[in-house]
Amino acid sequence: MNQLAQPSAQPHYSGSLFIVSAPSGAGKSSLVKALLSEVEGIGLSISNTTRRPRPGEQDGVDYHFISEHQFEAIRDQDGFLEWAHVHGNYYGTSRQWVEGQMATDRDVLLEIDWQGAEQVVRKVSNVVSIFILPPSLEELERRLRGRGTDAEEVILKRMGAAQLEIEQARRFDYVILNDNFDQALLELKSIVYAARCRFNQQMARHGAQLKSIGL
Ligand code: GDP
Ligand code: ADP
Ligand code: 5GP
Repeated sequence: MNQLAQPSAQPHYSGSLFIVSAPSGAGKSSLVKALLSEVEGIGLSISNTTRRPRPGEQDGVDYHFISEHQFEAIRDQDGFLEWAHVHGNYYGTSRQWVEGQMATDRDVLLEIDWQGAEQVVRKVSNVVSIFILPPSLEELERRLRGRGTDAEEVILKRMGAAQLEIEQARRFDYVILNDNFDQALLELKSIVYAARCRFNQQMARHGAQLKSIGL
């Protein structure tokens, strides 16, 4: 998020932290799933949420599904790197998991809302933020309904939040218009590969080799 102050000194790590945000139904989870199946060396943070599981969602795979009481306990012990109240439920990213991944120099991907993205950008350096947009509001609603996982009331709540969420796109480093899925996936992969080619990341990953040719 360009407009925000850069974080203060951070422990150095050679991985990148990717944040992917989108209004609900834009295709974020589908794109991230496809990315992870095709690109090595990147781990997805499994968020904690107080939302009920959708049909087919598994605890520990899609989310860690926890009670409000458990959420508050983790939050009060500063166990979340970030957390937010989104569409009536709490969501939070495990600080311990993310820091553990970063210590191994693997890339990390957070699928979180824009409020959480702001918090992470303030705390961590080397963040690459990506916002997924739907081609139109009509198509967004079609996708939310087509997914077949949410009650009418939930769909209306999410459509009600969509405009405000879409306006946050301007604060992210990259924007992907998810009209054609394959094109959107290609763009997402391109961002990940480009981030890995930044000078500092290459030096961190291939330092010895680069030194051997005179860098
Ligand atoms: P989706 O909108 O269909 O992906 O529905 P979800 O219930 O999976 O996610 C609801 C919202 O919570 C989305 O905006 C997510 O990006 C956000 N979210 C999920 N996990 C996290 C998290 O760990 N932290 C934050 N801040 N937001 C999250
Ligand atoms: P999000 O995680 O952003 O809420 P999902 O990944 O669950 O969104 O996608 C919402 C629905 O839209 C899913 O049924 C998914 O299969 C569908 N979808 C995603 N991308 C596209 C696309 N480019 N064209 C058509 N349908 C899509
Ligand atoms: P859903 O209920 O559809 O799974 O998610 C709704 C929204 O919550 C999505 O925008 C999703 O990205 C966001 N979200 C999921 N996990 C987290 C999280 O850990 N932190 C934050 N801030 N948002 C999250």
